[in-house]
Amino acid sequence: MSLVRTIDNYDKLKAIKLFENIDPEFIQTFLHDSREKNLVVGDILLSPQKHNNYVYILLSGKLEVHLDSLENPALSLVRVGECVGEISIIDTLSPSAYVVATETSVVLELNKGTIWDMINGSHTLAKNLLHILSSRIRYGNGIISDHLEAQKELQYIAMVDSLTGLYNRHWFNDIFKRQFEHCLTGDLKLSLILLDIDHFKSFNDRFGHLVGDIVLKKISEAMLTSLRSSDTLARFGGEEFIVLLPDTHLPKSLAIAENIRKSISRLALEDDEKNALPKVTVSLGIGQLMMGDSETSLIKKADDALYKAKDQGRNRVHVF
Ligand code: GH3
Ligand code: MG
Ligand code: MG
Repeated sequence: MSLVRTIDNYDKLKAIKLFENIDPEFIQTFLHDSREKNLVVGDILLSPQKHNNYVYILLSGKLEVHLDSLENPALSLVRVGECVGEISIIDTLSPSAYVVATETSVVLELNKGTIWDMINGSHTLAKNLLHILSSRIRYGNGIISDHLEAQKELQYIAMVDSLTGLYNRHWFNDIFKRQFEHCLTGDLKLSLILLDIDHFKSFNDRFGHLVGDIVLKKISEAMLTSLRSSDTLARFGGEEFIVLLPDTHLPKSLAIAENIRKSISRLALEDDEKNALPKVTVSLGIGQLMMGDSETSLIKKADDALYKAKDQGRNRVHVF
């Protein structure tokens, strides 16, 4: 039975949030200008491309709200008794989202003039509308904060190495670029240490990759304890680590590198089942920022020094 044509349908009216606590007879006086509209699956009720002059109240069926494109997953569902379109009536702009029928549905279509007459005629209706709008804002804020959380999580994944928890090379490159520019303008000292585990391939071959991973984690921890809060440590590649030491002269960076080397050579390593593992050593190369250096040339200096440390027998620090 049509809601528009009868005033017997009080229960149906009561289910409508916009009409909550309003005398059905008051509502009924405005419904003559309205009509019920039937929708089939896929019918688009509101679209950002189409100016809207109506508030639609869902009487039966189901609608979905999509932002930007109908291809995107639904932002929310519209349930029986809820309305859509009211924001574009108030701000006179096009709808901000698509509303589409996902079931055969019936909506009550109230035109702009009727809605404003109802608002002018009833404080309760105005209050209901404010309530609906504030729920929308809260829902929107909830979605924004979920997205921010997800974004933070993605940022974290993008900058942190999952095995060691250290920053990864991508993140390091960003920081390095900034620190490097800062040094050039501020005439500060800058040292770079590259570290590579000695004979790690044969360690992996003997004990397996998973045990090798335990060693990588232990070495990361040992390095962190030898560094200052101003230093930046990152996993540079497979079994290579890089340290950026801002405002640091060579004697200090040499002392730090030696400290790292010694602390790693003393590590009492064991596998998951607490079986003792042989000692592991590392080689380190230091590059010191000089006039005319670029980011690449500074890394190359540290890399050349590392190569020398390997060449001279490993388990040592070499300065470029
Ligand atoms: P060198 O002393 O000259 O550095 O010898 P090396 O064996 O360490 O050098 P090489 O570059 O031949 O081998 C590096 C090894 O590091 C090989 C690879 O299996 C291992 N590796 C790289 N990434 C990982 C990792 O994420 N986990 C483990 N377990 N091993 C890794
Ligand atoms: Mg290597
Ligand atoms: Mg190695």
